[in-house]
This record gives sequence, C-alpha cells and structure tokens, in this order.
Amino acid sequence: MKRNRNPGKVWERATPGFDAAVLATSFSGRDPGVRPKVYVQANTAEDVIAAVQRAQREALKISLVSGGHSWAQNHLRADGLLIDLSRLHRIEIDEAAMTARVGPGCWSVDLDIALKKRGLFFPVAHAPDVCLGGYLLQGGFGWNGRALGLACESVIGMDVVLADGSLVHANAQQHADLYWAARGAGPGFFGVVVRYHLRLYPHPKVTALMFQVFRMVHLEEVFRWADAVGPNVPRSVEFQMLLTPKALGIFSPGIEVIAPVLADSWEEAREAVSFIRNSPLRPKASLTLPLLPVSTVLMSRGASFTHFPDRMRWCADNMWTDAPIDDLLPGLRRVADTLPPAPSHALWLNWQPPAERPDMVFSMEAKRYFAVYGEWKRAEDDAKHEDWATGCMGAMAAHSQGIQLADENLGRRPARFMRDEKLAKLDRIRAKYDPEGRFQAWMGRIKPGP
Ligand SMILES: Cc1cc2nc3c(=O)[nH]c(=O)nc-3n(C[C@H](O)[C@H](O)[C@H](O)COP(=O)(O)OP(=O)(O)OC[C@H]3O[C@@H](n4cnc5c(N)ncnc54)[C@H](O)[C@@H]3O)c2cc1C
Repeated sequence: MKRNRNPGKVWERATPGFDAAVLATSFSGRDPGVRPKVYVQANTAEDVIAAVQRAQREALKISLVSGGHSWAQNHLRADGLLIDLSRLHRIEIDEAAMTARVGPGCWSVDLDIALKKRGLFFPVAHAPDVCLGGYLLQGGFGWNGRALGLACESVIGMDVVLADGSLVHANAQQHADLYWAARGAGPGFFGVVVRYHLRLYPHPKVTALMFQVFRMVHLEEVFRWADAVGPNVPRSVEFQMLLTPKALGIFSPGIEVIAPVLADSWEEAREAVSFIRNSPLRPKASLTLPLLPVSTVLMSRGASFTHFPDRMRWCADNMWTDAPIDDLLPGLRRVADTLPPAPSHALWLNWQPPAERPDMVFSMEAKRYFAVYGEWKRAEDDAKHEDWATGCMGAMAAHSQGIQLADENLGRRPARFMRDEKLAKLDRIRAKYDPEGRFQAWMGRIKPGP
C-alpha cells in the first residue's frame, strides 16, 4: 500500500476519479462492483463527527476503512457513506508511563520503528501496512502475541465517535460496555475509533528467526511432528508452517517451517527453537538455516515482499481447530495439492491459547489456527481461483470450532466467530449505542446455536 500524503476531502459519486479513489483504499486489487454514495477522507476527529452527522441526516449506512487490509473488502458496501481513517496516523509516546496514543491509520511498521528507537515494544501485526484501526478491533495476532497476549488486551482505552456523532472515551471505567465490545467485534464494531490508547512493553533484547524447508511429499509426517511438539513450544516462539507452491530454497511445492523468537538472551532464544534443531525429521529437511538475528521490521517487510504483495486479487478463509491431526491431514493434503500459483499459501499456526483471557467480546480460539490465502493477478482468472479458499475451509468445517475475524470471509462463508453468549451480549450493546443500525456489521453471520 502507499501512505496517504495528500489532505483528505469529501468525494461525491459524481466527483471525477471517485471510483479509483474508493478502490485505492483496498489492499486487494479486486473490484467487488459496489460503491458508496459518499466517500469521506477524514483529516481529523471533527471530520469524522461531521461525516457521521451527515450519514444520520441522509439516512446513509456507514462503513469504515483504516488500512484497507480486510481480505473481504468489508468496507466496500453499496450506497452508504464510507469514512477513511488512514490520515489519522499520529503516534504519541509517553516513555515514562510506557503508553502510547495512536491513530487508527497508523501502519504497524511505523509504530514498531517509533517504539524500537525508545527501547519499547507493542505486538503489532506481521505485515508492515496493516493499520491499527481494523487490527486491534478483531483481536490482533501480532509479534510476540503468544507471550504478550492478543494486541487488543494491551488497548487501555479508545476515543470513539458514536452513531449520534458524540465523541466518547471508553476504557475499563467509562463506557466499559463499549470497551468490552471493541476488543474483538472486528468489522462488526458500531462506532468509529479515532484514537487508541496502548500499553507498551520493553523491547525484547533478541529478535531472531529459525527457518527450515521440507518438500510437500513429507506433509503428513511434518504435520504429525508439529502437532506433537506444539503444546511444549515456548511462548516466545511463533511456530508456524506455510504450505507454498514455491518454497524458499527449493522453488517447488513445500512446507516452510518458520519460527520467529523474541527473547531476552541468545541462550534463551537458541533453547526456545531447539525443538526444530533437534527434530527427528531434520535429516528429511531440504534446508535448515541456523537461528539468525532478524528484526521484526525486517521480518514484516520480508513477509510482505514474499507472500503479501499488494494490488493482487485475493481470496482468504480460515479455521480454529482442536481436531485430532489424523482427521485434519486429508484436508491439509487437499489444500497443498490445489494451491493456486505462488505467492498463494496456507498458514498453520501453533497458537495454544492460555487458559484465561480478560473479559472481552473476543472469545473464539483453539490450539491451532489454519488459514488459506489464494492470490492471482488477472481478472480473467477470478473464476478459476475465487472459490478456492471457501471450498478448502468449507470441506474442513466439521473439524473447526469457528473462525478468526482477522482473515474473515463471512460474506461468502458465514461461520461462528465468537461464543454465542458473547455475540448475544454484543447485540444488546449495539442496540444501545447504534439503535438505528447506522454502522454496517459483518458481511454475514450464522444464527447462534441452541
Ligand atoms: C497482508 C495482510 C497481513 C495481515 N497480517 C495480520 C497479522 O499479522 N495479525 C492479525 O491479527 N491480522 C493480520 N491481518 C488481518 C488484519 O489485521 C485485518 O484485516 C484488519 O482488519 C486490518 O486492519 P486495517 O485497518 O488495515 O483494515 P480495514 O480493511 O481498514 O479494516 C477492516 C474493518 O475494520 C473496521 N475498522 C477499520 N478501522 C476502523 C476504525 N477506525 N473504527 C471502527 N472500525 C474500523 C471496519 O469494519 C473495516 O471494514 C493481515 C491482513 C493482511 C491483508
């Protein structure tokens, strides 16, 4: 994505360049064919208030975009008013208090760099240009997230413009219900976050990466091994595996074992990834690199370059799963055998959540996370690839507890994304803050179970 340097303005549908300006808000290069009636590029919180008041007056539904990284392009809806928060990207750091106030349009990498200069850290997203706006609302699976928790657990407050145009502060004491709802509602949140207040952490002394590659023929044994070691992998390691048609080093279908580690010493880091170094499968690996020092900034930029180029056409879907590995293997094999061309890929993340989290609406996770990302360049190939992700995850749905909102595909495949009682409470809070349904909600949802 490109950073917005130009001052924002209000675009009516008849304004020349309207279509291009609206589509430029998306990380995905797809055009879903729907347009808002009005597109407001906010420069300030006051612009946001004015836009919400206009939507009220003209009875328009509101959709929101910060970094535009919703795979489903959740912000592109027909005939409403779209508010773009990407210009609200200011970072204010209070080093002594170890807190920051950050706009929703702030890129993950910009916060990472600003904090590192001061020896501080926040679990930002793994891709540089994912913005805090959407990232923190859906939960936020960021760097060192297995040790520090979901990024939204480090949100201590937020400034929110409500459906009636008022600007409120929500935290554990004030508007506590709104604060509860904002930590996990994702694209179903019913207010505009114009500033987040964040708790910060000391920057880890060591950030490093262990990397290994297997040919796809070894899929079954590699996943059995990953499943067996998963529960004992230290929380400082984000142990993940990518299925890719063009694995690094072998340039053919393979499994990339990727283990970023954030630790306080080299000794701790080396010990943390010893499960890869000492794995019985190591002789079968085509490539095993030693643990290398790599900053989170470099890892983010590398991932973006190799796996997440922008302006591609995307389909994505996902599942949380606690199912036995043998039940999952046929689905994993099917994904591997049907991957669209590189850089399409599938991600297996050894998540192993803690026994408890703070009370918030976020409430769907499992021991392992599996997501598929199909990408292609040309509109002519839409028909060939666009149902791939939905088909793969639909076929494995019986083995899934539900989905993560980070990689949601609800418009095409509604699935459970939070616990039923939390969703029911969220609906009650929504009815209080947005009684007329001014804000768009998720593109699809399933009815709560019995
Ligand atoms: C390449 C890539 C890498 C990713 N990596 C990660 C990762 O490492 N970890 C992770 O957890 N997720 C990741 N994601 C998923 C990402 O966090 C979500 O798509 C998130 O919603 C993106 O936030 P955004 O502001 O960039 O996107 P947007 O598309 O702007 O936001 C998504 C939705 O959030 C809501 N929203 C956005 N801003 C606001 C606001 N200010 N106030 C109220 N509602 C708002 C809107 O409903 C909007 O449609 C990744 C996505 C991509 C495309």
